[in-house]
Amino acid sequence: MRTIQHWIAGAETSGASARFGAVHDPALGVQQARVALAEPSDVDAAVQAAAKAFDEWRDVPVTRRAKIMLAFRDLAERHVDRLAEIIADEHGKVLADARGEVVRGLEVVEFACGIPQLLKGEYSDQVSTGVDAHSFRQPLGMCAGITPFNFPAMVPLWMHPIAIATGNTFVLKPSERDPSASNLIARLYAEAGLPDGVFNVVHGDKTAVDAILDHPGIAAVSFVGSTPIAKYVHGRASANGKRVQALGGAKNHAVVLPDADLDFAAAQLTAAGYGSAGQRCMAISVVVAVGDAGDGLVERLRERARAIRVGPGREPGSEMGPVITREARERVAGYVERGVAAGAELVVDGRDLRVDGHRDGFFLGPCLFDRVTPDMDVYRDEIFGPVLVVLRAGGFDEAVDLVNANPFGNGTAIFTSSGRAARTFQRRVQVGMIGVNVPIPVPMAFHSFGGWKDSLFGDTHVHGPEGVRFYTRAKAVTSRWPEDHDARTGHDERHAAHLNFPTST
Ligand code: NAD
Repeated sequence: MRTIQHWIAGAETSGASARFGAVHDPALGVQQARVALAEPSDVDAAVQAAAKAFDEWRDVPVTRRAKIMLAFRDLAERHVDRLAEIIADEHGKVLADARGEVVRGLEVVEFACGIPQLLKGEYSDQVSTGVDAHSFRQPLGMCAGITPFNFPAMVPLWMHPIAIATGNTFVLKPSERDPSASNLIARLYAEAGLPDGVFNVVHGDKTAVDAILDHPGIAAVSFVGSTPIAKYVHGRASANGKRVQALGGAKNHAVVLPDADLDFAAAQLTAAGYGSAGQRCMAISVVVAVGDAGDGLVERLRERARAIRVGPGREPGSEMGPVITREARERVAGYVERGVAAGAELVVDGRDLRVDGHRDGFFLGPCLFDRVTPDMDVYRDEIFGPVLVVLRAGGFDEAVDLVNANPFGNGTAIFTSSGRAARTFQRRVQVGMIGVNVPIPVPMAFHSFGGWKDSLFGDTHVHGPEGVRFYTRAKAVTSRWPEDHDARTGHDERHAAHLNFPTST
């Protein structure tokens, strides 16, 4: 069986790993490879490699770093299809969707290619007589990324291009469920001319994560995953003195007002609810139908959910693939059962779906609930599967209150033809990313991505300007070049001692 190894100091290695994780083909439901699970000594080897590389990488001119990013971007662009295939094979999502995540990830690389502009400091001339002030930003050192299964290329790409372009070195611990995309990325960086040790990949589970969180050599940790683990990572890494950004789970609501175009809204919500089998942190998992919108919307969603073609990610024509594991399939089906028991109306039931030739695949058809209430598990928990729930709200205020009462605050959307309603919505909701007639408002790479409340622990969002800030720290310099003799006063200022606190003179 194929073994997926770590990538440390520019080479593949299994290091000290004696434990291995199973990597499945979710469409067939069988194991296709095994992945080495790092021991703390493997993490240490990666950090040592990153530390050695940092000594030189920090001093590589910013223009040269940008050129390597450009070369990496060109190489990665030529490998978009290969990356998409790897993702489809290990994650299960359909090829076009996998390609989409790679393209969105590469947009962060394109942003990072502009690092000379982004790292420009600030200069103030003559802040006092003969005194100037300037500030600039420097890299932190060795940074780490810990990432989830659902975007095996894009989420790591939110992190490492910016960390590396700003002069840091990086250790990535991707999800052990779909690890291979990270190894190809590592090879492409090497081919692009990135020195050995600047980008390292350690595969693993909690053992590897804990070793990262406790390693004194790591200055900063970026995490993306579920809320309980995000909270844990934020707490433990912070207690160890690291800078941390930990993005958590979500329960994204779409509010549909009666004045919305219901055909448009239903199409958008179907894509956002069931794309990638609902395994997106920005998936719409809750629809809040306001007033009269309810019946017409549910009818349209029902028709569309039934029409979705579920099949293997590699098969042309598949619109939705399987979920990631057998356990995930059972967990999602269990939620559907609990929703029915709690009294929600199951409008579309995808539990019995079978895909020809893939009887053991982790498939589940789209499920749609109507008349869900906030006390039900299917509303309260992040299901992370192809289950869309509809709640009915009497009016706009009730819908906004519902969004704001939810502990998650990753993304939300409003569907309306009223600019005024949309404006009020975007100003009042307690959510980090908002779409107006856009169901998955993932910010572009040159803006920053991040939720509020239980969807993010830490102060800075990822990529964009906040990413640059996260991976750097500021220095402020005040300088003077005293003259021997002041022609105006006739004094030699170099020898004057002023014991009062310095102010501008
Ligand atoms: P997860 O939390 O199970 O795993 C994320 C990472 O943490 C993985 O690398 C995993 O190996 C590690 N991990 C798992 N359990 C751990 C433990 N007990 N201790 C230490 N480390 C541990 O998440 P997942 O199932 O891979 O991904 C799905 C979740 O990620 C969903 O909740 C989704 O909403 C969230 N997500 C959020 C965003 C966002 O931007 N907010 C983006 C993508 C995914």
